[in-house]
Amino acid sequence: MLRNALLWASSNPYLSERLPRARFVQRATRRFLPGERLEDALGEARRLQGEGTATTVTLLGENVATPADADAVAEHYLAAMETIREEGLDTEISVKLTQLGLDQDLAATRHRLDRLVRGCDPGALVWLDMESSACVDRTLEIFRAVREDHQNVGVCLQAYLQRTKADLEKLLPLHPAIRLVKGAYKEPPDVAFPRKADVDQNYIRLTSMLMRARKEGRAGRPVIGTHDSRMVGEANRMAHELGLAKDAYEIAMLYGIRTAEQERLVRSGYTLRVLVSYGSHWFPWYMRRLAERPANVWFVLRQLVR
Ligand SMILES: Cc1cc2nc3c(=O)[nH]c(=O)nc-3n(C[C@H](O)[C@H](O)[C@H](O)COP(=O)(O)OP(=O)(O)OC[C@H]3O[C@@H](n4cnc5c(N)ncnc54)[C@H](O)[C@@H]3O)c2cc1C
Repeated sequence: MLRNALLWASSNPYLSERLPRARFVQRATRRFLPGERLEDALGEARRLQGEGTATTVTLLGENVATPADADAVAEHYLAAMETIREEGLDTEISVKLTQLGLDQDLAATRHRLDRLVRGCDPGALVWLDMESSACVDRTLEIFRAVREDHQNVGVCLQAYLQRTKADLEKLLPLHPAIRLVKGAYKEPPDVAFPRKADVDQNYIRLTSMLMRARKEGRAGRPVIGTHDSRMVGEANRMAHELGLAKDAYEIAMLYGIRTAEQERLVRSGYTLRVLVSYGSHWFPWYMRRLAERPANVWFVLRQLVR
């Protein structure tokens, strides 16, 4: 119930206008968000790189209202990639297509993504976040179109969606780089598996497909995006059995979540990438983080008491 309430709150305009102004909410976000500016995220990227961890950075915000807003996001990321290159950081960017204008104009969104991919370092990837199920067809259509011309683009797929196995099968001929996650949005049961056990089972099945495709040279770098030790353990076990090197795939986690486990993975020689978010539009994103682990709500309430 609490998960549903938090996911409902994540898309409520009244709450997203007012709650972010509350000091106790701002204090609580610091655990998952180093700051609102790109420099805050890159500061953490620098520190993490010193500890052997690569990063992805993402500007929070979704569903921009005008083409000018979408252009501004594209310009922001182009400048960010320039800074990343100048500083020699092992940092990639991950974008939401609704931030690049997906709700307004498919062709213009594709054009903006095309610019980002061209502006990206040849050795790095521009990642597409996956948003709610209403966006999946359009996101994959744009991914396909851009992937046909460029290698350095990857896309996130969500294991909670019943369609994802079929989507992955259709994408494999493109040798795609895929980031696999469980999925963070509120979806109806005819679209997403309602039971966590089914989501986990699908996650393991999709991981196996990705790892085998990687071994056979049919996929780019698989990214196992989860904090679930069982999922990570299964992925590592599969890679080991297939004889895949530890740098042939990545494990990815969110900034501030399970940091001890992140350090343990790096110490054990696995390739870890941490996704660091920044920006002022953090409310819906933050509500989704609370929904993933309702125990985090107590953390917020403790800030209120303090
Ligand atoms: C790198 C990365 C990129 C992502 N990109 C997307 C995307 O593009 N689209 C999308 O829909 N979703 C995305 N997500 C979110 C993802 O879909 C899940 O909602 C999120 O990762 C929680 O699921 P889990 O796999 O960690 O497993 P769960 O089964 O939810 O959690 C496993 C364990 O991890 C810990 N944990 C999980 N979440 C939290 C939390 N918020 N706070 C504290 N502990 C926690 C808990 O110990 C929990 O028991 C991304 C996640 C990662 C790590």
